[in-house]
Amino acid sequence: MARILLVEDDQRIRDALLPSLRQRGHVVTPLGSGLPALERALKDPVDVVILDLGLPDVDGLELLRMLRAVSEVPVIVATARDAEAEIIAGLDAGADDYVVKPYSAEHLDARIRAVLRRHASAQPADRVVRVGGLRIDPAARQATLDGRTLELTRLEFDLLRALAERAGEVVTKRELLAEVWHQPFGGGDRTVDVHLSWLRRKLGETAAAPRYLHTVRGVGVKLQPEP
Ligand code: CA
Repeated sequence: MARILLVEDDQRIRDALLPSLRQRGHVVTPLGSGLPALERALKDPVDVVILDLGLPDVDGLELLRMLRAVSEVPVIVATARDAEAEIIAGLDAGADDYVVKPYSAEHLDARIRAVLRRHASAQPADRVVRVGGLRIDPAARQATLDGRTLELTRLEFDLLRALAERAGEVVTKRELLAEVWHQPFGGGDRTVDVHLSWLRRKLGETAAAPRYLHTVRGVGVKLQPEP
């Protein structure tokens, strides 16, 4: 059973999906436009969002980006847009999966189950990490330093989290590229450097006078609190 927010402006699709999804034990809230759906998703969290892209009030991709800025809820894009570039854009904007219309309720339900399985297995890692004055709460996607909230981008947060989870260890740029950027084959050292320098600035330190982020020349970077 999942609590599902179904964002779809086509009444016929809603009418076709609703009974089948409910029959499968899901609790479904259907909404025909984007902004009310965004508001709803924030006010009353659900387990998964099914998101059409062609919506009357806001483009679904834009909605997805807005949602991703504040929520980690699994999102399955369900749309008639089937061009490869659009599928890539959807996944890059933060979709967990992408189905192309027409799809059956059975197909969608299998996607929902798969997304929920992946999400559930990611949960145990969502424990709060503390290193010195740093506190990183992955579930809330919030990081604080000495009690002060750090305004981090998504990547900066993931980078800080990856380093904090292995505090005291040297983490190579290649490992960071794989873990944070999902680029297992490297090639973007510069990307890591740039984000590290932004992160340093937000932590109020510099490479020359590090407090938490220590560069180990030629190897990688190590997050370590002051002695
Ligand atoms: Ca539509």
